[in-house]
Amino acid sequence: MRKHLPYAWFFHGQRLRSTLDERTLRWVGDIGLAAAVGAAYFLVAHNSVGLVLESTGVAVFWPAAGITSGSLIALGPRARWPLAAGVIGASIAVHHAEPLWAGVSLGLCNAAEALVIAGLIQHYFGADFTLDRLSQVLGLLGAGIVGTAVSGIGGAVTYRLLQGPSADLLVTWHHWFASDIVGIVAVAPLAIGFAAALTQPPPRAELERSIAALAALAVMTAVILSLGQEAWDTILPIAWLLPILLWLAARSRPVFAAAAAFIASGAIVWTTIVGIGHFGDASLSITNRILEAQASILFVSLSANVAAALFAERRASEERLVNSNMLLERERDNKLMNLEAITASIAHEVKQPLAAIVTNSSAALRWLARTPPDHAEVRAALGRISDDGHRAGDAIDGIRALFRKGRQGQQQIDVNEIVGGVLQSLAGELKEREVECRPELAELPPVDGHRGQIQEVVFNLVQNAIEAMSAVTDRGRILRVRTQPRGRDAVAVTVEDSGPGIEPGRLDEIFGAFVTTKAHGMGLGLAICRMIAEHHGGELTASSDGKSGAVFRFVLPIKQSDGL
Ligand code: ADP
Repeated sequence: MRKHLPYAWFFHGQRLRSTLDERTLRWVGDIGLAAAVGAAYFLVAHNSVGLVLESTGVAVFWPAAGITSGSLIALGPRARWPLAAGVIGASIAVHHAEPLWAGVSLGLCNAAEALVIAGLIQHYFGADFTLDRLSQVLGLLGAGIVGTAVSGIGGAVTYRLLQGPSADLLVTWHHWFASDIVGIVAVAPLAIGFAAALTQPPPRAELERSIAALAALAVMTAVILSLGQEAWDTILPIAWLLPILLWLAARSRPVFAAAAAFIASGAIVWTTIVGIGHFGDASLSITNRILEAQASILFVSLSANVAAALFAERRASEERLVNSNMLLERERDNKLMNLEAITASIAHEVKQPLAAIVTNSSAALRWLARTPPDHAEVRAALGRISDDGHRAGDAIDGIRALFRKGRQGQQQIDVNEIVGGVLQSLAGELKEREVECRPELAELPPVDGHRGQIQEVVFNLVQNAIEAMSAVTDRGRILRVRTQPRGRDAVAVTVEDSGPGIEPGRLDEIFGAFVTTKAHGMGLGLAICRMIAEHHGGELTASSDGKSGAVFRFVLPIKQSDGL
């Protein structure tokens, strides 16, 4: 979101910052701004007074109104008082031939106008006002109408007091209103757009092609303004500017369309004042020329700014569309990934207990086929089948809980009991693969968690350790499983083996889905384990020197945070 330009930025050099405190700096900024606005206002106003209607004494073009309201909108409410001071000071200087009270009064009217316009914009649109929406262009026009209508009352009263009954209140108000609203529509968008471009400069290519278009527009304006009266009566030359204006609106950001309108308006005002070209043609009535000039400026400025806003809206909605398409695609990919991960993890977790069930049932059948049948062995095998069946069920529950949000299935868990259970269920395999198991279980508080899932993590870590050590022939196959409290609010399970270890560069990679070095591995175990650890607000990390074994550390918080 664009913030107001910090107008004191040009005083904020590092050297000054180190020597002056913030308050002094602010004062310097305020005075600097008042002086800058005052000088700009004086220069523009002084020249605009070049064309004053005899009947009222009001200038027919008042671009200064656009400078003040536009810069106040761009600079934000903090610039209010310095800007008002600058405008009042400049008004006194411009009207130096008049009594002081008249200069002060006109200054107050001009300052009030800018304050009303910028206040309305701030109230209805907030700080982010960039003229890239139609509502903002219409809002500026509306606020301009209200502000100039109000200031026109003060202006008309001042001129009446100054010039006596010869200055008709309504006529003066009308001239004030027309000259100021034309000034605002022609100049304020440029000030606003310029401030926006300072905070977000346009790319070089856009700058270059826009400047070329502005130059073409300037040439076209010169051609149009030099056409004779006959051409103006028949072929509506001012409309010839439209193609370039539309091109700028479509291809560049609104500031360039505003600049185009400013150039055309400036040329119209200048030729009217100095008396050259169509608008300076002394053979035509001055009132008609001024009216036509004002109408032309309004036409050019409003069409340029409205078109620029409409195109900017179109560009923004195009951008939104592209963005939402990208999000949809990502969402779809995630869903596919999830589906693939869910299916694969179910297969992964259930494969092992199913294989154990098949082995145990074949063993049970063999014991039964004996004469006499060995009932004790059959009972033991059936017991193992039942345990494996439960484990498969737990694994499926765990996976379902893993892909579900919320805390279903959470309970108070004794981690030592889980570790003991896993080691017991793998006792046969440990023995068969000649692994010496050294459990070191410390006293632990119960933790909040999902039983099936935590069991899966420990089971996977121990299973991986056993599988890794099957390659070891030159040293003992030692499995250390430790549980320890970790600080006051977590517990840790460490599984350490004396296998070949993991290259330090691969330590992160092995947690990725489908990463495996085993012929029949699925590469999902560690990915799921890390997901479970993170689901519980804990972590799973690995360390190894790549030679003498690996250590996996699973840390679980005792209490689950509310976010889960
Ligand atoms: P899988 O066991 O199906 O390969 P995992 O995600 O559990 O999937 O493991 C990924 C890879 O991490 C394994 O293929 C192996 O290369 C490596 N790995 C895991 N645990 C160990 C360990 N204790 N020692 C050495 N390598 C390991």
